Amino acid sequence: MANRTKRDVVIIGGGLAGLSAALHLANNNCKVCLIEKNEYPHHRVCGEYVSNEVLPYLISLGINPFSVGAKKISKFEITDSKGAPLKASLPLGGFGISRYAFDNLLFEALKNKAEIIFDTVEKVTFEENHFSVTTKKKNILKADFVIGAYGKRSNLDSFLNRKFMQQTSPWLAVKAHYDYDFPDDTVALHNFKGGYCGLSKTETNTVNACYLSTFKSFKKYGVIDAFQKKELSKNPYLDKFFKEAKPIFKKPLTISQVSFQKKEPVKNHIFMLGDSAGLIHPLCGNGMAMAIKSSQIFSELFLKAFQENNFDRTKLEEDYTAQWQKEFGERLKTGRFIQRILMDPFASKVGFSLAKIVPSLLPKLIEKTHGSQTK
Ligand SMILES: Cc1cc2nc3c(=O)[nH]c(=O)nc-3n(C[C@H](O)[C@H](O)[C@H](O)COP(=O)(O)OP(=O)(O)OC[C@H]3O[C@@H](n4cnc5c(N)ncnc54)[C@H](O)[C@@H]3O)c2cc1C
Repeated sequence: MANRTKRDVVIIGGGLAGLSAALHLANNNCKVCLIEKNEYPHHRVCGEYVSNEVLPYLISLGINPFSVGAKKISKFEITDSKGAPLKASLPLGGFGISRYAFDNLLFEALKNKAEIIFDTVEKVTFEENHFSVTTKKKNILKADFVIGAYGKRSNLDSFLNRKFMQQTSPWLAVKAHYDYDFPDDTVALHNFKGGYCGLSKTETNTVNACYLSTFKSFKKYGVIDAFQKKELSKNPYLDKFFKEAKPIFKKPLTISQVSFQKKEPVKNHIFMLGDSAGLIHPLCGNGMAMAIKSSQIFSELFLKAFQENNFDRTKLEEDYTAQWQKEFGERLKTGRFIQRILMDPFASKVGFSLAKIVPSLLPKLIEKTHGSQTK
């Protein structure tokens, strides 16, 4: 069914990138339509530690994570696969909040300000300077601009024939909440052969345990329970956790084919935000902040042109691509570098020894994967 009302912007995907861009644009008189597959609230596979880098921006959008009980986090602990620990203060700090609560907080702030459609986008075409967006339920929406904020991997990436879809993605991730005695102010990252597991508290006082693993490492066991008991538990911290922690979910959430390949910030004139533009290795604890920050970068550039009624599409695409690269290029590179070190037993051993001798090394590396706090 063709929907003849034309929107300024259609946003595909209502995760943190899509919701924050929708809120920013709607707060500034844009006619926004957000299309999301799933109703809110819902759980997602994520480490649920958010860097304070984006806190001032969230507050400027009217979002205060502490209003729903987010935990303030200022300490970081990392162990190698044998359980040797390193501790550091987090340069910027952050907060612990479930995606169930965080995404819903943004949705509640947005729902009376923008049009929200629960449907799956299947097709996006661009002709004569206008977009046509077709959904599974056969809605056809017209718009001047389209934002792709549909996450790390979607049917739309196949539709758009994006290069990274042709490459293998040998990573899978598992997440669940647990009752467990764990400090509110700490985020921990415990390594195991082929992956790492993050632990941090959420607003419900439960501990979120989320791990990323190579498929090769998981395949040896084939089921989550055996993998956790036999492989993750070789790290004494994870052994204690999985022995003592009481699961809250009926079963853990899982995702596979997680890709860290390079992507384009603009594809077929669609502005890509968040994971649709590029996913940083989760060990950096910065993907959510990057998703929110990319929305800020896009929205500020877009609103400048919108308010001056002076749209030069090519310039907007070039400016967004340049700013995206400037803000995130180095972080992604550093993330890939740290990931390679941690996955190599010898390099990891050297790295841990070095970080023990030079305590400033760990906070420096964390800084290199984060940006600065801006409003
Ligand atoms: C294992 C793991 C642990 C992580 N831990 C952390 C962490 O601790 N801290 C951190 O900052 N980051 C972490 N991240 C990264 C973080 O989860 C992402 O960077 C963040 O969720 C990106 O937000 P987004 O809005 O781009 O995408 P998403 O949150 O994935 O949202 C995309 C939305 O688009 C919707 N969608 C998809 N396709 C369509 C379609 N065709 N039509 C309509 N809707 C569609 C989906 O339903 C979804 O709601 C982790 C990632 C992984 C894999």
